[in-house]
Amino acid sequence: MINTESSNITEIILSQRSFFQTGKTKDIAFRLEQLKTLKQAVTLNQQAITQALQADLNKPEFEAYATEISVLKEIDYAIKHLNTWTKPKKVPVSVEFFYYSARIYPEPLGVVLIIGAWNYPFNLSISPLVGAIAAGNCAIIKPSELAPHTSHLIADLITKYFDSAYIAVVEGGVEISQKLIAEKFDHIFFTGGTAIGKIIMGAAAQNLTPVTLELGGKSPCIVDNEINLQHTARRIVWGKFINAGQTCIAPDYLLVDQKIKKDLVNELQKCLKEFYSEQPFNSPDYARIISQKHFERLVNFLKNGEIIIGGETNLSELYIAPTLIDHVSVIDPIMQEEIFGPILPIIEYTDIAEAIALINSRPKPLALYLFSQNKKLQNSLLQETSSGGVCLNDTIVHCGISSLPFGGVGDSGIGSYHGKAGFDTFSHYKSVMQNSFLLDLKWRYAPYKGKLSLLKRFLG
Ligand code: NAD
Repeated sequence: MINTESSNITEIILSQRSFFQTGKTKDIAFRLEQLKTLKQAVTLNQQAITQALQADLNKPEFEAYATEISVLKEIDYAIKHLNTWTKPKKVPVSVEFFYYSARIYPEPLGVVLIIGAWNYPFNLSISPLVGAIAAGNCAIIKPSELAPHTSHLIADLITKYFDSAYIAVVEGGVEISQKLIAEKFDHIFFTGGTAIGKIIMGAAAQNLTPVTLELGGKSPCIVDNEINLQHTARRIVWGKFINAGQTCIAPDYLLVDQKIKKDLVNELQKCLKEFYSEQPFNSPDYARIISQKHFERLVNFLKNGEIIIGGETNLSELYIAPTLIDHVSVIDPIMQEEIFGPILPIIEYTDIAEAIALINSRPKPLALYLFSQNKKLQNSLLQETSSGGVCLNDTIVHCGISSLPFGGVGDSGIGSYHGKAGFDTFSHYKSVMQNSFLLDLKWRYAPYKGKLSLLKRFLG
C-alpha cells in the first residue's frame, strides 16, 4: 500500500485504533494465527524476497537466506513460546499482605510504528513485527526507501496477507517518516543511524510515545595473540564483508596485539582471496553499496592510512573491493564515524589496556568482539567495557539467537528485541493486586493513634 498523504496516514491509524478497540488482537489464538500467516507469507515468497534483495543490494542468495529469510526462525520461536509469554505471572507478596494475591499481566500497547533501515531491509521490518504481533498490537511499517524493491515487496505481501486495519505498510522517505512520527503511536520501533534516532526520539517525546532505538556505531574487534589464527581470520572476514560491510554489528575496526599483527594480516588477505577470489568484482558472493551517497562517503575513507589489499572502486556498479587499511590514526575520519562498508582499518596495540582505554573513551558500541582463549582477558573485557552485546571468538552470530536480547546501550541504542525481548518491547506489564473480603484488618485506617509502632515493625 503506497500512501503519501497525511490524511491517509491518519485514516490508517484511526482504523487500526478502532480494530484494536475490538479486543481481537488480545486473543492468543488470533495472535498465533497471524504469526502463522506471516510465516506463510515469508515461506511462499522466498524467491521474490531474494530477488528484491538482489535488486537492491546485489545480496547473494545465501546471505538473503542466512540473514533475512532467517526471520522464519524468529516467527517459529514466537509461535512456540507465545502461550508461556502471555500467561499472567503470579508473584510473591510480603508477609503483611499475606491475604492478597499479586500478578503481572502482559498487555499489548496498541498501535505501533516500525521504521526500518535499508541494510537488512526485509529482516529489519519483519523481525520487529513478530514481537508486535506476538504481544497483540496493530502495526504500521515504514520500510527504508533506500531499498525500494524490498520496500515494495513488503508492502505487497503485507497488503495481501493482512487487513490494513491490523497491519499496514506506508512507503516513503524522510518526509513520510516525519509525517508518521508526528502522529500519536503507542510505541515507535526505529532501526537506523544515531543522528536520526535523536530526531525520532524528539518527535516521540511530543506525544510521550515510548521508543526502541536500534542504532549503530563503531563496533571494535580486539585480536589477542592467544588464538587460532585461521579461524580468527575467517570469522573476521566473514563478519566484516558479509553484505559488503553494511551491517550494524560488523567489526568496524580491528585492535590487534602487535605480536600477532603481521601473521593476522597475512591470514586475512589469504581469506579474502579464498572467499571472493582475486577479483571480488566478479564474485557472485559479494554485495554492492546501497547508494551513490554511501559510495562517495566510503571512497573518502580510502584516503586514510595505507591500503594493504583492495581499494578498487567502480561507481557505476557501486562496487568497493573488500579493503584492509593499515596505519590509520584514531583521529582520521575513518575512525571518527561508523564505516558501514567493506573497509577494515587495523590498529595495533602493545598492551591490552590501551585497547580497552580506546574503547572506553568512545560512545558505547553496539557489539564488541574479542578473539582470545585467555579466560582472564575475556573476563576483564566483560568487566571493564560496556556494549550492546559481546561475542567472544566469533562475529555477528550473537544476533541470530532468539534467546539473546539484541539491542544497544548509550549511543548504540535504547531497548532490545528478538525472542522474548521483542514480546516485552511491545507489551506493557500491568501489575495487578487483589484483596478479598474475608478479612479487613484496621491497622492502616485512621485514627492512627497507637498504630505507628505496629507500622514501624512492618517496615523494620
Ligand atoms: P537512517 O537513520 O538514515 O534511516 C533509517 C530510517 O529512518 C529510514 O526508514 C528513513 O526513511 C528514516 N529517516 C531518515 N531520515 C529521517 C528523518 N530526518 N526523520 C525521520 N525519519 C528519517 O539509517 P539507514 O541509513 O537506513 O541505516 C544505517 C544505520 O542504521 C547505521 O548507523 C546502522 O548501524 C544502523 N542500523 C542499526 C541496526 C540495529 O539493529 N541496531 C540495524 C541496521 C542498521
